[in-house]
Amino acid sequence: METPKYKRIMLKLSGEALSGENGFGIDFNVATRIAQEIKDLVDMGIEIGAVVGGGNIWRGRSGEGMDRTTADYMGMLATCINALALQDSLENLGVNTRVQTAIEMREIAEPFIRRRAMRHLEKGRVVIFAAGTGNPYFSTDTTAALRAAEIEADVILLAKKVDGVYDKDPHKYNDAKKYDKLNYIQVLEQGLQVMDSTATSLCMDNNIPILVFGLDEPGNIKKAIMGEKIGTLVSKE
Ligand code: UDP
Repeated sequence: METPKYKRIMLKLSGEALSGENGFGIDFNVATRIAQEIKDLVDMGIEIGAVVGGGNIWRGRSGEGMDRTTADYMGMLATCINALALQDSLENLGVNTRVQTAIEMREIAEPFIRRRAMRHLEKGRVVIFAAGTGNPYFSTDTTAALRAAEIEADVILLAKKVDGVYDKDPHKYNDAKKYDKLNYIQVLEQGLQVMDSTATSLCMDNNIPILVFGLDEPGNIKKAIMGEKIGTLVSKE
């Protein structure tokens, strides 16, 4: 029997990860594929917290000329739409889930209560953390870092469109070099596109490793859990 490298994980999916080809809205075929990958982990006994972004619907910085806080609240609401979509896809596959929101909307989901989240995880429920941190000027990467610390996750699995961290944009440069390993300071100093600096610092201060990998290849989340060498690992070493 294979032994997973991690017992409790924080899975961060960008909003785009749910959107399929065009980068906007939700493609339920894609959501179902991701849900199936998550289910495979649940079946292995992995405890899963998930944070979904909102960029497939709205990002605060899209609101040019808008009040920044209002634009950010719109972004937080977008993450709630995605969280419900992911919940639905998971429950269609028979996975027990709870959505917890950082902004109360009790008719739709539970409010975020750490102890309750921990209990859900122990019972094998996937807990989807929605509405970001509940604060403007933050991102869902920071949410993933914060919730990972709170639920004592072993690692953040950062699922991206690219298969790791590169020294330059691999879509633009053929000679872009992929890193297997990095430390937090290298990410911050070199301004590498992993997470925003607030999220990276939070991970550094709380010693939470971040595994950046590509979601496009099916089975990658499981590979990451089993400790196969994929993507880029960001840690203190
Ligand atoms: N957001 C926020 N506070 C948070 C988390 C998110 O204000 O704690 C807003 C912010 O405007 C952000 C949007 O929600 O642009 C969507 O989140 P994000 O851009 O992180 O989504 P992703 O890029 O991962 O899809």
